[in-house]
Amino acid sequence: MIALRSQDAKFLEKLAYSPYTRKVAPRPAVFLDRDGTLTEEVGYVNHPKRLRLQPRSAEAVRRLNNAGIAVVVVTNQAGIARGYFSEDVLAAVHAALVSQLKDEGAYLDGIYACTHHPTAGEPPYRMVCDCRKPRPGLLLRAAVELGLDLSRSTLVGDRASDVVAGRAAGTRSVLVLTGYGLGEWEYQRDSFPVKPDHVAEDLLDAVDWVLGGQRP
Ligand SMILES: [Mg+2]
Ligand SMILES: [Zn+2]
Repeated sequence: MIALRSQDAKFLEKLAYSPYTRKVAPRPAVFLDRDGTLTEEVGYVNHPKRLRLQPRSAEAVRRLNNAGIAVVVVTNQAGIARGYFSEDVLAAVHAALVSQLKDEGAYLDGIYACTHHPTAGEPPYRMVCDCRKPRPGLLLRAAVELGLDLSRSTLVGDRASDVVAGRAAGTRSVLVLTGYGLGEWEYQRDSFPVKPDHVAEDLLDAVDWVLGGQRP
């Protein structure tokens, strides 16, 4: 399990130019936004007990696991920059996420979090970073570290900023109508800088679309 810590962001450029070559072919991934997509949108998750999977999320992740598609969470957690919770709390929340999924036979290949905010809090968390969605840094970093083929990958999220991050990284994108999704799509869709490739009721519907699209 990989959690992006703030100081790691500096290594992104270095990694992108690394001469390291993987022996296995890059594989497709589904990048999942966390709050409102994989888990219930409940505001800042400042305690593991606040974390709740959406009803059909574990099944969605399990289907991707069975299809050999990497499942990578990409999440903005500016609550850290704002001082609402610590990196230790975030790690505990993500341990709870992994555990809840494991109880249902579902596994993540990675969790990447942006803990920054451009104007709130203090350095090192207060910074203009390349990983806060809608920027694509979390996806690009995961692709290098996990050997992912972005052109055969999909991002699933509940906000316009997720869709934009997917496009910027070269993936397809699916907007789910859970979390903020219904409101964003019903009232804000005209102001989406990038339109999603598909709109799905929830994560499981999004995964159905992804898997259907991969059949020959
Ligand atoms: Mg979200
Ligand atoms: Zn960041």
